[in-house]
Amino acid sequence: MEQASIVIVGAGPAGIATAVEAKEAGIGPVVLLEKKGHLCDTVVSLYHEGKRVDPVYRKVKVEPIGRLSFDTETRESFLDRMKGVAERYALDVRFWKEVQKVVPTNGAFMVTCGDGLTVRSQIVVVAIGIFGKPVKPRYPIPAEVKDKVHFSLPKTPIAKKRLLVVGGGDTAAETACFLSCENDVTLSYRRPEFFRLNEMNLCSINECSCKGTVRLMMGTDIERLEPSGDRVSVVFKDGQVLVFDAVFYCLGGMTPRVFLEGIGVEYEGERPKVDEVGETNIPRLFLAGDLVVEKGTIMAAFNSGKRVVDGILARYGSLVKG
Ligand SMILES: Cc1cc2nc3c(=O)[nH]c(=O)nc-3n(C[C@H](O)[C@H](O)[C@H](O)COP(=O)(O)OP(=O)(O)OC[C@H]3O[C@@H](n4cnc5c(N)ncnc54)[C@H](O)[C@@H]3O)c2cc1C
Repeated sequence: MEQASIVIVGAGPAGIATAVEAKEAGIGPVVLLEKKGHLCDTVVSLYHEGKRVDPVYRKVKVEPIGRLSFDTETRESFLDRMKGVAERYALDVRFWKEVQKVVPTNGAFMVTCGDGLTVRSQIVVVAIGIFGKPVKPRYPIPAEVKDKVHFSLPKTPIAKKRLLVVGGGDTAAETACFLSCENDVTLSYRRPEFFRLNEMNLCSINECSCKGTVRLMMGTDIERLEPSGDRVSVVFKDGQVLVFDAVFYCLGGMTPRVFLEGIGVEYEGERPKVDEVGETNIPRLFLAGDLVVEKGTIMAAFNSGKRVVDGILARYGSLVKG
C-alpha cells in the first residue's frame, strides 16, 4: 500500500495551492488525487471558452497570503498557468482517481479511490469544491424536459435557440451574455435588481440588455416547468407562461454532505464545521477551498490552501517533516 504524509483530494485551485505550500514547506510525500483527467475540473467543465477569469469574483477581493495568485486572464491562460504550477513544483497528481472513501484508522487515514487504489496518510485535506452538486430549484423538473434543463454549459455549442437563464450571480450573468452571442436569451432573477455582480459583469449584462440581446426579467420567480412539445413551458408565479428551447440554472453549488458526513465530519447548519485553519472535528482531517470559504473564489481557495498548511505545520509539524 502507498504511504503519504499528506493526501489531498481534488486538484482544483485549493488542492493545488495546498500541495504547493506543503512542498515548499518541505513536507513529503504529498499525493494529489483527482477524479478527472485534468487539473481544475470546475474551470474546465463549467467556464465557457474564452471566459474572463477574475481574481475579484462575487464582489470578494482577497489579497494573496501564499505563493499562488493571478491577474484577470482568460480561462485558457488560467488553465495553462495551473499546468505550469503543477510542473514547476513537480506535484504528484494522480488523474482519474475519484476518492470514494476516507476512513480514519489507527492514527492514519485510508483513502480509497474508485479503481481500488488505497493510500495511507497521516493527514488528509479534502478540496473537492461544491460544483459536483449544483443547487437545484425547489420545484421538480418533469422527466419529459430533463434533457432541456442544464446546470452547466453543454459541451456542444448552441445556436439560434430561445433560452432562459435562471439566477442573479456572476455565473448567471456570464452565461446569459455568452449564450446571447448566438441565441435569443432571457434571464430571470428573483430580486428586483442585481446586487452581487462584479463591476465587469454588471456592465456586460446591462449592455446586453440595452442592445436587446438579453431580455431581463427582474423580480420574477418560477413556479414550475411543463413540457410543451419538444420545448419547455416556464410558468412564473405572476401568471406569465413563456416557452423556451432550454433552461439553464445558475444557482451555485452545495457542499457534498453525504461524502463528508460519511467520513464523520460534523456540520453546523448547511456548512461543515471547521476551525480557523480548516481542521474538522476529526483530528488531522482538513477541508480547503469552496467547501469552507463563505463566498468561493479562486483567490480564496488559494489562500485556504496556505492556511491549511500553516495549520498542519503548527499542529503536526513533527509528523509530516520527519
Ligand atoms: C461558471 C463559474 C465561473 C466562475 N468564475 C470565477 C472567476 O472568474 N473568478 C473566481 O475567482 N472564481 C470563479 N468561480 C468560482 C471558482 O471556480 C471556485 O471558487 C473555485 O474553483 C474553487 O476551487 P476549489 O479548489 O475549492 O474547488 P474546485 O475548483 O471545484 O475543484 C475541485 C476539484 O476536485 C475534484 N474532485 C471532486 N470530487 C472528487 C473526488 N471524490 N475525488 C477526487 N477529486 C474530486 C474535481 O474534479 C475538481 O478538479 C466560478 C465558478 C463557476 C461555476
